[in-house]
Amino acid sequence: YAKLDGKNTYKWFNTTLKKQLERRTQIENELRKAIRNEELYVVYQPKFNLHTSQLAGIEALIRWDNPTLGLVPPMEFIPIAEDTGLINEIGNWIINDVLSQMRKWQDKGHSVVKVSVNVSQRQFRDFHFIPFIESCLSSYNIESKYLEIEVTESVIENIELVMSKINELKAMGVGISIDDFGTGFSSLSMLKNLPFDTLKIDQSFIRDLIDNSKDISLVKTIISIGKTFNLTVVAEGIETEEHLHLLDELDCPMGQGYFFSKPIRPEQLETEFFNVSQKI
Ligand code: C2E
Ligand code: MG
Ligand code: MG
Ligand code: MG
Repeated sequence: YAKLDGKNTYKWFNTTLKKQLERRTQIENELRKAIRNEELYVVYQPKFNLHTSQLAGIEALIRWDNPTLGLVPPMEFIPIAEDTGLINEIGNWIINDVLSQMRKWQDKGHSVVKVSVNVSQRQFRDFHFIPFIESCLSSYNIESKYLEIEVTESVIENIELVMSKINELKAMGVGISIDDFGTGFSSLSMLKNLPFDTLKIDQSFIRDLIDNSKDISLVKTIISIGKTFNLTVVAEGIETEEHLHLLDELDCPMGQGYFFSKPIRPEQLETEFFNVSQKI
């Protein structure tokens, strides 16, 4: 063994920290050019009615493929985008891309299911954000009820701001979804104060559902809270048939997860999940 004295530990710590900082800086620098270099794209994950197995919605998720860094997961680059303010530009880019995709689908005669887009709270601080959504909806001629915004409840820094922006979107007819429900601190008071349409049960509660009776109780409770508040409940992270059957038994109306499909490119979604019965 190498002797781990104080000095070596310090050196190791220093090197690790240095590497982390370097990666962060590299991500930041590359991210600045990502839109211009067309490195961002969107994948779509279908959501299903768990009772009928019909396609019931779609979630848009961003992907970043950089020539030197490779595929960088959103969990790594979105927080950096938030810290640097790049999230505003990226957030607008994804709204535009998704609505233009929805236009293409509608032009082809595919049925219109709701498409949801994840939004960081930092984007609400940008005064141009909501007018931008409005202008995209109108230029692609998409009815606002087919767009849904997913907001993660975990860190709400400015509740008044978030509330006013959510109310503005709601007034436009855009749907609002609370993402990763149950993982933050303010879940219940948020439900009381904000006009959500959809509640997404975080995948951490679904993962061990089969063997963990606490998770079953929690999920049951969340589903009944959803009913009380008249929300559409969506279970995230359905990976197995057992998950599906149990959630169906618990009367969970909707879900998404690898059991049905991973997030995929729009062309693949079209061939695999849009069919004649779903045409207008
Ligand atoms: P999220 O909104 O909660 O999205 C669900 C995540 O779970 C996605 O990861 C999805 O690929 C993954 N997932 C779906 N089904 C399963 C499953 O059955 N098992 C497991 N283990 N995972 C599953 P992804 O795409 O890596 O995104 C991670 C997070 O990054 C998202 O969590 C969301 O918070 C954020 N994000 C993604 N795209 C955007 C975006 O365009 N804007 C913003 N602001 N955030 C985004
Ligand atoms: Mg989401
Ligand atoms: Mg989220
Ligand atoms: Mg989630």
